[in-house]
Amino acid sequence: TSSYIEAVEAARSLNAYLVETPEQALTMADAADAALKAGTAGPLAGIPLGIKDLFCTKGVHSQAASRILDGFKPPYESTVTANLWRDGAVMLGKLSMDEFAMGSSNETSYAGPVLNPWRADGSDANLVPGGSSGGSSSAVAAHIAAAATGTDTGGSIRQPAAFTGTVGIKPTYGRCSRWGVIAFASSLDQAGPIARSVKDAAIMLGSMAGYDAKDSTSINCPVPDYAAALTGDIRGLKVGIPTEYRPDNLPSEIAKLWDQGVEWLKDAGAEIKDVSLPHTKHALATYYIVAPAEASSNLARYDGVRYGRRVNGSSLDDMYAKTRAEGFGKEVKRRILVGTYVLSAGYYDAYYLKAQKLRTLIARDFAAAFNDVDVLLTPTAPSAAFGIGETKDPIAMYLNDVFTVPASLAGLPAMSVPAGLSSTGLPLGLQLIGKVFDEATLLNVGSVIE
Ligand code: GLN
Repeated sequence: TSSYIEAVEAARSLNAYLVETPEQALTMADAADAALKAGTAGPLAGIPLGIKDLFCTKGVHSQAASRILDGFKPPYESTVTANLWRDGAVMLGKLSMDEFAMGSSNETSYAGPVLNPWRADGSDANLVPGGSSGGSSSAVAAHIAAAATGTDTGGSIRQPAAFTGTVGIKPTYGRCSRWGVIAFASSLDQAGPIARSVKDAAIMLGSMAGYDAKDSTSINCPVPDYAAALTGDIRGLKVGIPTEYRPDNLPSEIAKLWDQGVEWLKDAGAEIKDVSLPHTKHALATYYIVAPAEASSNLARYDGVRYGRRVNGSSLDDMYAKTRAEGFGKEVKRRILVGTYVLSAGYYDAYYLKAQKLRTLIARDFAAAFNDVDVLLTPTAPSAAFGIGETKDPIAMYLNDVFTVPASLAGLPAMSVPAGLSSTGLPLGLQLIGKVFDEATLLNVGSVIE
């Protein structure tokens, strides 16, 4: 813990941590030491973790990287972080992210962009660490957290993992409690780990997961021993390759990486099958209606009265307006506008209802494919990490999520595993998508690829 605390201080130029909690870390490390001596230590005893700022941590600033939550110190602990502390983990601090987890580059945090510790060959240009869990991916890649929590609504664990050469898994919707996780799009949000190896991710997910009566969408289903599932034996496993994930404009190095992944799994004894997910082309549009709709409703609570920042006004309405105008960033406002629009009486049927129907069709595509195969293999993202400030157009930013949002809409577990390097020496990831509650198979297949 002490050496991680020093490493965190030495790497402040990455801008990964919003809050450092060294004193708390040392106290927690002492408790872990005592538990180890007493023989009562949990599986994460003394492991120093970074926590995404979306998780409420008792008495420690938690503000979803948004100005509107300036000064907010939750009086309670999220269930997922409480589970990690129960098992002996140590908190190094709170990690930056895109504001309210909206983004794919970690450029919208109130504290400014987070840097990816990776550089392209022969270049000094700073790259994004992916988003929204960019503080988490950067910290894990830079060894300033042994592992980190992330959250994934449409790709925010998987894409940052791919951009930084780390492992990230978004479990099945309902596997990890959302209690105390600041809400973005409640029907999509899931917590999960970002770690340096599949084994670390497996151990950490085992601690994070589990039924919680405080989250009505938490599922009461036993959590397997994920680390024990990592046998590396995938003989006879059926791996599906969705043809719709290979558009004509897929960059050749991404296509090559994918083909390489297929070969590795074949060599390990898996059976490869082409599958079709015909509604894939609608997934991005569906996601960018459903997610903003839910966000516009969830973010209504930030009114200057109950949490965080208040900007005084001449009347109550004026106070609301000024608080929200100053407190929210541009992308968050865009989502609130889009979400309010698609939910409005005149447009609900044309957009929101249609998107909900498509969401069902997308889920049915997966269900049909999983009649024939055990797991799907795809790229995680359409490119390697890009430069800070390079993607200015919001729609171009949304295109980053093209391979990750379908599994989110269907509630399926999905993970990104580092699989190779781009032509410029940057990490690239492959995505595995599994059947509901079958994270164990994903992790096992991931262990063959990493
Ligand atoms: N990039 C997507 C978005 O901006 C996904 C974010 C996430 O998974 N939290 O909505």
